[in-house]
Amino acid sequence: MTIAKETAELLAKLGVAREALVGGDLIVKSPVTGEEVAALKTISPADAARSIDAAHKAFQSWRLVPGPKRGELVRLLGEELRIHKAELGRLVSIEVGKIPSEGLGEVQEMIDICDFAVGLSRQLYGLTIATERPGHRMMETWHPLGVVGVISAFNFPVAVWSWNAALALVCGDAVVWKPSEKTPLTALACEAIFARAVKRFGADAPQGLLQVLIGDRAVGEVLVDHPKVPLVSATGSTRMGREVGPRLAKRFARAVLELGGNNAGIVAPSADLDMALRAIAFGAMGTAGQRCTTLRRLFVHESVYDALLPRLKKAYQSVSVGNPLETSSLVGPLIDKAAYEAMQKALTEATAHGGKVTGGTRVENGHPDAYYVHPALVEMPKQVSPVTEETFAPILYVMKYSDFDAVLDEHNAVGAGLSSSIFTRDLQESERFLGVDGSDCGIANVNIGTSGAEIGGAFGGEKETGGGRESGSDAWKAYMRRATNTVNYSKALPLAQGVSFDI
Ligand code: NAD
Repeated sequence: MTIAKETAELLAKLGVAREALVGGDLIVKSPVTGEEVAALKTISPADAARSIDAAHKAFQSWRLVPGPKRGELVRLLGEELRIHKAELGRLVSIEVGKIPSEGLGEVQEMIDICDFAVGLSRQLYGLTIATERPGHRMMETWHPLGVVGVISAFNFPVAVWSWNAALALVCGDAVVWKPSEKTPLTALACEAIFARAVKRFGADAPQGLLQVLIGDRAVGEVLVDHPKVPLVSATGSTRMGREVGPRLAKRFARAVLELGGNNAGIVAPSADLDMALRAIAFGAMGTAGQRCTTLRRLFVHESVYDALLPRLKKAYQSVSVGNPLETSSLVGPLIDKAAYEAMQKALTEATAHGGKVTGGTRVENGHPDAYYVHPALVEMPKQVSPVTEETFAPILYVMKYSDFDAVLDEHNAVGAGLSSSIFTRDLQESERFLGVDGSDCGIANVNIGTSGAEIGGAFGGEKETGGGRESGSDAWKAYMRRATNTVNYSKALPLAQGVSFDI
């Protein structure tokens, strides 16, 4: 069966009509073979604005539904995702080229965040606050915010939507989603799965609670500029964030920016090298280097460099690269030709700066428009460009270090600040790494790699990663508005700070 046929069959099972997949101007290709699998119609800016208005209308009634009841809708969404995990996971593999366990893992992450959000729907707690005035009560309440705009990247085509949508829905918000133009099919599948959950939920779920806008960045811009969207959660490159951030700031809208990473690991003298090796291999080569948390820079202490490097090189030379739908390869394709070219450009520049490259060449598999590569390991004499930039491909730059303070400085000396890790059994080193003058990233790990976060923690990064947090912990607070309320149940009107104003 061709990939196009399998795609149409999967989408039909998930509830997306075949007519939606043909006759449009957005050509969707599977990176697995490079073949066209659909031609979708895109939405015009005017229709996108109308969809946002419809979502706003839905918000006005959804906010009145009690939180725990809103949680029930998300519980049903989680159930539908469990039912359709195999099909949606497979579709992720077709559309992004992820190996099967990662395609399914992405759907599992959606299920996990739904479970988290269901619990959260009964825990949208405010505070009671001590007041200085007698006969008064002061408290903090959290109210639904409005329409939440979600702009997502190609590499986590469905999980990122669910991180945002599950929280937004229990918080009483409506959601308008602009998926990546490279991965619109999985978005249509999610829309259909969500529609099933809404149907089971019944009449209390208003029409239009989720809107999916198929289109490119011009459609994203409508979402960014629309006055009825008080929060935009945008995931993608730092370049995108530089455009989106100021536009949102201009109209005082909230931004959750989840942008590029240039994540590093440190292998200290006391590291368990077996453990480090596995974590490095998965972190740097997994998902073909196309995770925001992919390990891109590795600092290895000089005392263990010669013990680790040959083993790492061996892992690079032996890792299986190939069609994730038909083989048990661990590394699938890059998303497209542009990604391949960016990788080659970075490797050429690294070589010009004294880098010694292992791997990095194209793997031919009979499909001229599919871009498979051997992951590249580059021994660099020091941290210069292109090491300091994120190249969204499997390139790991390895550098030797001798001094712990100096390596912490090097670790933090890049624009991005998403994820980081140290391999050490030295308590002083690990605590320094996690402490105030240690890693400056939003995620800092000990004896675990940089990639593979769980949904329970807040996810996001500092500096050019954008500063946003989504998923677990108290990330939900971005999706609600906070009101401080003071109630006077006394018979007097004492003013704060002892001010007197007697008329
Ligand atoms: P991208 O920036 O090219 O596109 C991301 C999304 O932004 C797409 O939907 C695109 O249409 C939209 N977009 C682009 N410019 C826009 C604009 N001016 N206004 C509105 N929307 C706009 O990113 P990509 O290639 O799809 O994804 C890879 C990048 O995403 C990498 O840099 C990766 O690190 C990052 N990423 C970050 C996280 C995170 O949580 N920090 C997660 C996944 C991916």
